[in-house]
Amino acid sequence: MKRSPRVVIVGSGMSGLCMTWYLKNAGVEDITVLEKAADVGGTWRDNSYPGLACDVPSRFYQFRFAPNPDWSHLFSPGPEILDYFRKVADDHDLRRHIVFGVEATDLTWDTGVWRVATNDGNVREADFVVTATGILHHPNIPDLPGMSDFQGPIFHSARWDHSVPIEGARIGVVGSGSTGVQIVSALGGNADQVVLFQRSPHWVVPVPNPGYPSLTRAAHRLLPVLDQLAYLGYRTAFERVSVALVQPGVRRTVVTRATKAGLRAVKDRKLRAAITPDFEPMCRRLIFSPDFYRAVQRADVRVVTTPIDRFVADGIATDGEQVKLDAVVLATGFDSHAFMRPTQVSGRDGLTIDQAWSDGPFAYHGVALPGFPNLFMAMGPHSPVGNYSLTAIAEAQAQHITAWISRWADDEFDTIEPRYEATRAHNAEMKAALPGTVWSTGCTSWYLGKDGTPELWPWSPEKYRHVLARPRREDWETHKLLTATTTRARVKSTPTPKMMEK
Ligand code: NAP
Repeated sequence: MKRSPRVVIVGSGMSGLCMTWYLKNAGVEDITVLEKAADVGGTWRDNSYPGLACDVPSRFYQFRFAPNPDWSHLFSPGPEILDYFRKVADDHDLRRHIVFGVEATDLTWDTGVWRVATNDGNVREADFVVTATGILHHPNIPDLPGMSDFQGPIFHSARWDHSVPIEGARIGVVGSGSTGVQIVSALGGNADQVVLFQRSPHWVVPVPNPGYPSLTRAAHRLLPVLDQLAYLGYRTAFERVSVALVQPGVRRTVVTRATKAGLRAVKDRKLRAAITPDFEPMCRRLIFSPDFYRAVQRADVRVVTTPIDRFVADGIATDGEQVKLDAVVLATGFDSHAFMRPTQVSGRDGLTIDQAWSDGPFAYHGVALPGFPNLFMAMGPHSPVGNYSLTAIAEAQAQHITAWISRWADDEFDTIEPRYEATRAHNAEMKAALPGTVWSTGCTSWYLGKDGTPELWPWSPEKYRHVLARPRREDWETHKLLTATTTRARVKSTPTPKMMEK
């Protein structure tokens, strides 16, 4: 390494930690991770609701550089996953790089250097910025009539109020996505009454969640190769099944039939009809739950499908009834299109991210975009985030980004960004492939962008890994900055994309 890059990473969630590890592993030491909260863990720190778990097997939802032989379950609970990420930060000395309680407010490219302003009044300089701000981070708080009239506590699922008693309470849950399903499953039998307000149903697959016996864990501790084999086994299985998501055919038919058959676990025909979606399985993210169908059949759990009319002092009124409640949880999802915003990002020639994304977020291979040199994104637009392990995606992206930064360190170039034409062609290819995906078969979901098309990678995650592992050099524009004057002249010679055809 001929020179040492200064890298600022925004966010110390799963992908921020991953990025930090890969950079350190490549010998980069000048890394500053800006974390607005007081701890690492991102979504696993913010979400602490009862029943929180990952729907990807734990042996596949972990970093390959930090295998954990001690997972308790096939799908381990949220607190255990948070502990895992905390341990990764500790074991690999990542915390040393993290500045907690500091939020990046402005990222400004100043011909050759990023100026990173934070809410404590500081401005740091960086050769590279990597945004690792997560996708499901900003809670979607609906503006339902009369919400302020309700006398009990109301909170979003990602801001769980642990001071609210559950036992003996009547809890309303608004939203029937992955989060609502997990909460209802966990509260059934613990609260006095659980009422799920379902605007529209989601497909749920009743997958069991067995615990790992201590013998299995001991074997994984003794023979780390078992962990690697398990990881590769799950990866292969997920990649095979993922084909069902991106192209019609036998696999899609098999998953569709199996998902629909799962609903037979609900014996009451009326209830079954009420929770049967009118769109294809997998169009929205498929939900895996060992006990949702059991929970909704409990006497203390109700599914209300009549639309919410308004909140009243002691509950929620629908067309026809008033449901009395002590507390309401808004499991109403997130703004999945914000990416690094509200941080203000200003690239080459003062182009802002809001201008560049005025027609919706776009990127080149989910990691970078033209007009923003030396800026990389973890989990940027069109990353393969549908029903797959995001740790695997984060590792592929971190390796890719690290490879570019290492080339900068070897003095190959000073600035790098994807070419406008290459990005446009890539987005056009994705647009052409999207109609074949299951996400385009007619449903609403957080996958869809402003124009109604899915903001996902329309091919297999395997292809994504391969594409990132073998970057097309010709799709990337690099410059060597000789002096400050030539720098300006040269960098300005490239047209700035004011608008991007998606
Ligand atoms: P979501 O899938 O977006 O679901 C939000 C729910 O809130 C939907 O049922 C939606 O109704 C409802 N809703 C939104 N606004 C509403 C309103 N104004 N009135 C009534 N209902 C309203 O959000 P999520 O459940 O938090 O899950 C988001 C994603 O997080 C998942 O898809 C998954 O990727 C991730 N997640 C993963 C896990 C895991 O196990 N790994 C667990 C939790 C979450 P409609 O369906 O009618 O729009």
